[in-house]
Amino acid sequence: MKKLTEEQRRKALEVFENFSDSKLLTHLNSCVHCGLCAESCMYYQVYKDAHYVPAKKVDMVSSIYRRYHTLSGKLVPWLTGARDLDEEALEEMIDLFYGSCTICSRCTMHCSIGVDIGYLVRIGRAMLAGMGFVPATLQSTVDAAINTGNNMAIPEQDLIDTLKWLEEELQFEVNDEKAGIPLNVPGKDIMYTLNPREPMFFPLSIAAMAKIFYAAGESWTLSTRMYDVTNYGYFSGNIQEATAIAQRLYDEMEHIQARRCVLAECGHGIRAFRWEAPNYLGKPFPFEVITSVELLAEYIRQGRIKVDPARIPEKVTLHDPCNLVRSGGVIEMQRYILRKSVSDFVEMTPHGADNYCCGGGGGQLSMSEYNERRMKITGLKADQIKNTGAAIVCTPCHNCVDQLIQTNAVYKLGVKIMTLAEIVADALILE
Ligand code: SF4
Ligand code: SF4
Repeated sequence: MKKLTEEQRRKALEVFENFSDSKLLTHLNSCVHCGLCAESCMYYQVYKDAHYVPAKKVDMVSSIYRRYHTLSGKLVPWLTGARDLDEEALEEMIDLFYGSCTICSRCTMHCSIGVDIGYLVRIGRAMLAGMGFVPATLQSTVDAAINTGNNMAIPEQDLIDTLKWLEEELQFEVNDEKAGIPLNVPGKDIMYTLNPREPMFFPLSIAAMAKIFYAAGESWTLSTRMYDVTNYGYFSGNIQEATAIAQRLYDEMEHIQARRCVLAECGHGIRAFRWEAPNYLGKPFPFEVITSVELLAEYIRQGRIKVDPARIPEKVTLHDPCNLVRSGGVIEMQRYILRKSVSDFVEMTPHGADNYCCGGGGGQLSMSEYNERRMKITGLKADQIKNTGAAIVCTPCHNCVDQLIQTNAVYKLGVKIMTLAEIVADALILE
């Protein structure tokens, strides 16, 4: 069992001071134990074990809060359900907050009175991060981003070499030697970001976006100094590290003086930079921040690019990334894009804001110690995909792509996993 020092306990309880706003108090004290959130959670649906009822996560945080921040909790803890933050509680917290939650917030949406369970899980993770108990696997991803500027520690020259190769391929494909992937050019309309998984494992998704920018005649650039859209500090719960990562992208936008920051297909990265970073940094952005999903919809709507759905005759379904859709409000645009770009689009059941997580969210893909659970809960997603009869699963998130590739292999689905940019690039009419 892990040992807990007084100093670590103090650090964990400090989190309550830092979040001592009415939102925290409201959500900590509102659960009426109706149990309605149980069936909304993939973990509970698969394991049918009370340990995985989302309300248990609410209880964990609120019982510790009561023990140290209320008079009755201090005087008669056994009467109020208040709980000591001791070694036993610590083990349970690690398992509940890191080991059995993708922070998908599906339970939040289904809670009978609107308790923001995802937010309380993040409070629980912030407490664990304060005590130094972020799983080493997840922390190494954060460390790579802090120490090298990208979460896969890709050296800048390797990135440049990959992008130069992709540029040559693009010029060959569109038969135009002026087609390019502009690097570090100041004053452009758009600075485009990447998920480091792209240059590392999926360079063709960068090629797809470059082809679309070419077709749209866009004024754009990539920064090889800072391009990483991800922020695993958001998942670890370490707000200082999440802030440092967000600050780098902010600084690069100021440095390169682009008008718009376009966030690549990455659900949590979009949430962390677009919606959380202004709070981390304590100021609004002086530049526009949009997602590539919104940009692609804009191009099609304005006629800046043309697509031919006949080029993709296969049945295509869509996986909704939780942070982009349920928590980010980008729901209809990817559907608009797919209806324009493919011949046969079919929805999963359920879909949109009610969709299930892929199973790899919340940093689960980084935390190999929980792989068995991750691959078990993704069985729900596998069933959803099977039931559509689709040959292609599109998802605008590279983390989801990674998880769905594993789901595809383990559950023998025989589907192709594609990003939205890859679909649009395949359907693109180059004039
Ligand atoms: S956020 Fe998602 S994974 Fe976590 S408890 Fe709620 S439904 Fe379950
Ligand atoms: S649905 Fe909401 S109120 Fe009901 S048990 Fe779950 S968290 Fe508590």
